[in-house]
Amino acid sequence: MRQPAHAATRREVCREFVPGALVVGAGLAGLATALELAERGIPVTVLCPSTPGAGTSSELAQGGIAAALGADDHPRLHARDTVRAGGGLVDGCVARRITAAAPGVVAQLQRWGATFDSDDAGTLRLGLEGAHGRHRIVHAAGDGTGAEVTRAAVAAARAHPGIQVRAGVHVTRLLTDASHTVVGVQATGALGPMTLLAAAVVLATGGVGGLFAHTTNPLDSWGAGLALGLRAGARVRDLELVQFHPTALAAPSPGAATGRLPLISEAVRGEGVPLVLEDGSPALADPLAGRDVVARGVWAALRAGHRVYLDTPATLGTDMSRRFPTITAACRAAGLDPAADRIPVRPAAHYHMGGLVVDARGRTDVAGLWAVGEVASTGLHGANRLASNSLLEAVAAAGHAAADIAAHAPGAPSRPAPTGLADVSADVSATALRSRPSASDRGLLEEAAGVLRDGPSLLAAAARLREGAEHDDARLVAYLLTVAALRRTESRGAHQRTDHPEAGPAQHTYVDLGDLHDAAELGTGFAGLVGLVGSAS
Ligand SMILES: Cc1cc2nc3c(=O)[nH]c(=O)nc-3n(C[C@H](O)[C@H](O)[C@H](O)COP(=O)(O)OP(=O)(O)OC[C@H]3O[C@@H](n4cnc5c(N)ncnc54)[C@H](O)[C@@H]3O)c2cc1C
Repeated sequence: MRQPAHAATRREVCREFVPGALVVGAGLAGLATALELAERGIPVTVLCPSTPGAGTSSELAQGGIAAALGADDHPRLHARDTVRAGGGLVDGCVARRITAAAPGVVAQLQRWGATFDSDDAGTLRLGLEGAHGRHRIVHAAGDGTGAEVTRAAVAAARAHPGIQVRAGVHVTRLLTDASHTVVGVQATGALGPMTLLAAAVVLATGGVGGLFAHTTNPLDSWGAGLALGLRAGARVRDLELVQFHPTALAAPSPGAATGRLPLISEAVRGEGVPLVLEDGSPALADPLAGRDVVARGVWAALRAGHRVYLDTPATLGTDMSRRFPTITAACRAAGLDPAADRIPVRPAAHYHMGGLVVDARGRTDVAGLWAVGEVASTGLHGANRLASNSLLEAVAAAGHAAADIAAHAPGAPSRPAPTGLADVSADVSATALRSRPSASDRGLLEEAAGVLRDGPSLLAAAARLREGAEHDDARLVAYLLTVAALRRTESRGAHQRTDHPEAGPAQHTYVDLGDLHDAAELGTGFAGLVGLVGSAS
């Protein structure tokens, strides 16, 4: 939603130094970071546009949280599956560290009040999802895992005296001092613009699905945190690596012209439900192959004029509503009864593997700025995230970042109140920074950077998205995504170039704000961007 034009000129209603840390975003990553900080004695202020947990990807998560808890399982096997799924770009050390932390993450969520599905003896029920070699998916209320862990984290955060939640606040820019250290944020709230200064700022703003025409994400997940970080000087790694979920419900959310599609979790296929064409014949040989493989298979069938369905009546039948109540409700809202009707599906933008470059402590490469959750690139997901590894990562990484902040930015501000603030976005109005991508930009990006990509389409989209990207955060992220996709002249994981079908050397791409300015300086139309293509670093 665009702000009214006068918003940027409204008088600042508040300018204050908050003790401890500022956390931007109240999905699972932001809430877990706040709790981990508060439990270490660091005061926290959480900023979020609506009530905490609402409008987040976290609350929509269905399948669950991956953790090697079964008698036949081990974190090493979980790490191995994570590395295998990631198409050569997973950092093995990160995979080992986070999968080893997974059983503790489940226990931590239980301590915060989450209840997971278990048998009569209290043993957790473990589901199976694509590309996992073992049953290791911890879930709640069948397919309501995200709602349950978010509910618990919100309640725990509200109950903690060290956490202050300021709802209705939208962060529009990061503030840096003369040494390029992040020292606070500028934000807008119901009463007007405000400036909040703190010893540490943590971005936990989620993913980028809202940049695409079809997505399972809330439409406000369009990469605002990436833009904030980029404008403060941070680098983004593998921006082009977007996972398309193969089975979004091929009907929009009820009553909404939003374009957000309900997800039909992989756990449904894990229960043996096949993907079929309209005549009932199998759509794919292995419906539990990696997400990228299944998404391409479904996309190819749709492109060939077929329709693709999950055949729930033939397999789960009336068990569907017991095992998957959330999905059943979404289908019913779209006029389908999954016990009797096959569920029509299509791929949709789902998860961003790329993100702000962070180290093992969640530090970005800008001092004073940490990033946690989907906005960050830890190295866990490579070119293709393994199912149910992101809620896990959000909580595990929250602990790592909180420990680092507690050690280096204690509750009493470790730095003197900043002087000589350099507002990194001083030339950009708050109006532009709060923009949501237009429907035409979303269509353009999906056409060029969807399940299948090619150089000419990416180049044409980049040329159009470049216009106005200086003053429009969503365009900035969409434009740089096309630049990164042009640089990756190969096919790997979720990034498939029809003009470069083979994998090249396994390497990351990086973009920063300089890539916007480089293109602007070309001066001879957009063709000069071709010179930048192929320079993956
Ligand atoms: C339908 C669906 C199903 C999924 N199922 C699973 C699953 O089963 N298992 C799994 O592991 N993963 C799953 N995922 C992925 C997982 O849910 C997300 O990766 C994860 O929840 C991201 O958490 P987050 O806290 O980083 O972001 P989010 O939960 O999206 O929270 C982001 C927060 O940042 C706020 N924010 C954004 N911009 C600003 C700003 N400028 N100022 C202030 N606040 C801002 C938002 O309002 C929100 O509060 C699923 C995702 C979807 C969409």
